[in-house]
Amino acid sequence: MRDCIFCRIVAGEIPSTKVYEDERYYAFRDINPKAPVHFLVVTREHIGGVADMEGREELLGGLVTTGIRMAAELGLADAGYRLVLNQGADGGQSVPHVHLHVLGGRALAWPPG
Ligand code: 5GP
Ligand code: ZN
Repeated sequence: MRDCIFCRIVAGEIPSTKVYEDERYYAFRDINPKAPVHFLVVTREHIGGVADMEGREELLGGLVTTGIRMAAELGLADAGYRLVLNQGADGGQSVPHVHLHVLGGRALAWPPG
């Protein structure tokens, strides 16, 4: 999708700090980090949000396990971390391309604001 920020990041048209990539996923540092470690895992395919992944359970599972694997590689496994999928306006989703937030490196408050 030409006008989608994350499709443009995946295509290399907008620079990003890559954490990981394979044929299905691209992971990169969040430009406005909310924790010492904050990166996003996105599908290479344009999918509007997690609610559009019904029937795509394998792809959704891979999105989550990619986040878990990268969290471990970045040293977060022992202390823990948070995985977040914001969906829609009330969920706080600002970019309509599905993305998993991985946050860690400090104790995170609960509940979210
Ligand atoms: P959402 O609010 O949709 O759950 O999360 C979108 C995230 O994308 C935000 O945390 C925001 O900082 C991040 N973001 C938005 N535009 C860019 C960008 O151009 N580059 C990077 N690296 N992150 C971005
Ligand atoms: Zn997109």
